This record gives sequence, C-alpha cells and structure tokens, in this order.
Amino acid sequence: MSPKRYIIPVFIPHLGCPNDCVFCNQRKISGEILPATPATVRGAVEEALEKIPAERSAELAFYGGSFTAIPESEQTELLEAVQPFMRSGRIGEIRLSTRPDALDEPCLERLKKFGVRTIELGAQSMDDGVLEAAGRGHTAADTEYASKLIKKQGFNLVLQMMTGLPGDSEEKALETAKKLITLKPDAVRVYPTVILRDTPLFSLWKAGKYREHTVSEAVNLGAKLFRLFTEAGISIIRFGLNPSDELSGGEAVGGAYHPALGELVRSEYYLNLARELISKSEHGSQLVLGVNRGCVSLMTGQKRKNIQALMSEFKLKSLKVRETKLPAGKFVIILQ
Ligand code: SF4
Repeated sequence: MSPKRYIIPVFIPHLGCPNDCVFCNQRKISGEILPATPATVRGAVEEALEKIPAERSAELAFYGGSFTAIPESEQTELLEAVQPFMRSGRIGEIRLSTRPDALDEPCLERLKKFGVRTIELGAQSMDDGVLEAAGRGHTAADTEYASKLIKKQGFNLVLQMMTGLPGDSEEKALETAKKLITLKPDAVRVYPTVILRDTPLFSLWKAGKYREHTVSEAVNLGAKLFRLFTEAGISIIRFGLNPSDELSGGEAVGGAYHPALGELVRSEYYLNLARELISKSEHGSQLVLGVNRGCVSLMTGQKRKNIQALMSEFKLKSLKVRETKLPAGKFVIILQ
C-alpha cells in the first residue's frame, strides 16, 4: 500500500482570474471569502502541520482562482511564504491550478525555483464552441500549448475537464477526453457541471436557456470517460465537486451534484464491464463475478442496482460477487 499523502489546500478564490465563466462562483466552491495572503498561507500551513506526523512532509496546493494570472509580485509573496516550511522539510512540494492561457516559459522557470512540481490546468473542454459558450476566454489550442510547455519543463501535469457545459454533448466530451489523453497528463479531474446559485449559468437555467446536466447523465457519461482514461493508464484523481455543507445546503441548485458522484461513476463503469463480459460469454443462469479487493460494493451497486440490472438483462437466477486477486489490468472476471 502506498503511504498516505498529505495535501494542505490553500484556496485563492477568483484571485487573478480575468474571467467570469458561466458556471463559476469560486468563493462558494472554496468556502472562503477573503483572498489568500502570505499570512493566511502561513496560518493554514502551521495549523495543518500540527496534525501531520513530524517525520512526514506534505504538499501545499494552491487551488481555486488562476494562480499564474495573479500579478507576479503577489505570486512571489505567496510562494515565499511557503519557503521556510520547504527548507525545514515539512513541505516537500507545491502544486497549483491555473488557466491554460496564463503560462509561458519564464513563468514556469520561476515556479520551478519555488518548488512547484505539479500544475493543474482547467482545460474544461477541447471544443472551442463549448469554451466560448462557457465564457472561458481561452481556446483548446491554449490548453495544448500550455500542456506541452508544462511537460517539457518536467512538471507533473493534471488536466481538468467538465461535462454538461452549455453547447456540450456526450460526443464532444468523449472527443475532449481523447484529445486530453494525447497531451499525456499524469492525472485528470472530471467535473460534471453543477448549477451554483447566483452564477450566469443559474440565470440561463432559470430563463430556460440551459438544460441541466443531470446526475444520471453525468454518471453514464462519466463511466465512459473513466474507461477511456483508465485504458490510457491515466489516473482520475477526482470525479465531481468536493461535497461541502454549502453545496449540499442549497448553493448547488441543479445539475450533477451528488456527494458520492465518483463512487456512482465507478460503479457504473463496473456495470458496463460486467455487461460486456457476460454478453460475450457462454453462461448458465447462475453466475459468480470476481472483482479485486475492496471492489465488491462497486460491482454490486447502490441498493444492489447493478446486480438487479444484470440479472434482468441476462435472465439470471442468481448472481454473486466475490473478492479475488485479479491479474493486472483486470477489474472484473467471470468465476463461474
Ligand atoms: S477561470 Fe476559473 S476562477 Fe476564473 S471564472 Fe473561470 S472557473 Fe472561475
């Protein structure tokens, strides 16, 4: 088992961002009102380090906003605030998220000197029409250019994509995933669109000009994206917004918000794999599926949804799921 990673998140809501994307309300997503300052960075790190074993080093993550679009002097102040913790070894590296059109070579050189190792880019879509409708203010070509620079300079690259944006479709989302895969990210995050209160998207939805991306659509499409990324050997480090009291308490007024969205997506992925396997096999009316350790509930589905679906589709009298050690790259096999 790989050792637990410690990540200290520091949110920089909307700081440095020249845009107003239709879906965005960074303050509500990050749950912060005040912008980050060197003092708040130091405070967040000191508080978090108290709970992290002294012999372990953590990763500091600047999330939200667009870090590299902040004036250079402010970026430097925030990064300098982390340096004493890096020198003492308590912080091992820094990651940050930013916009694809806010990076160039000198900027990356500077970030490297401060110990930034991972850069997350909000690509969101590789379809220029979707990007325009979402008010992103950058193009797919910007994402391509920035991703190549990031890889060339030796950083870890994480790409974020969204599904269900205005003008988006399943076909365009699958195409986006394929294009992101060609950029060889180390990992991806997928965020199905959630309608947040008081955003332009909220107004479009209220006016009947945007049809919400439902949880069920996000799960069906998500399972297909999960498969594409998994088969390309790219890990999916997040599926769906982090659940929070604010979102669950009414800020998420529509769209694909579900506190366990990632689990629903993975469970649907297992259902699809099992469906394919069974349809290609010669089987009787009683089946046993084998899955890896810890994956029985994913295969079974919430309230046995997957079991019921497979039993009905394949006219089975019984279907059981067992934990077993599978060969590398296998998720589900038929045991009997
Ligand atoms: S670029 Fe990021 S921070 Fe800026 S408006 Fe869009 S989603 Fe929000």
